[in-house]
Amino acid sequence: MDKVCGKCNTKLIKAHIKGLHGEFGVSKKSSGIFVGFSYSKASPYVCPNCGYVEFYLEEKELEKFNNEQ
Ligand SMILES: [Zn+2]
Repeated sequence: MDKVCGKCNTKLIKAHIKGLHGEFGVSKKSSGIFVGFSYSKASPYVCPNCGYVEFYLEEKELEKFNNEQ
């Protein structure tokens, strides 16, 4: 299923996070310890029209998130 820009309805392009660690994620837990810490990796999607960036959890990562206790 294509992801569409919430601002202008243009089809979003999947991108990759560039930075010190190359990725980041989300978790229901608020633990500050990142080593051995389980989280769901977020993927950025960029609108080529207006530049809006949205983050999504891919299917597998979303499952991981939903299964978190
Ligand atoms: Zn847009």
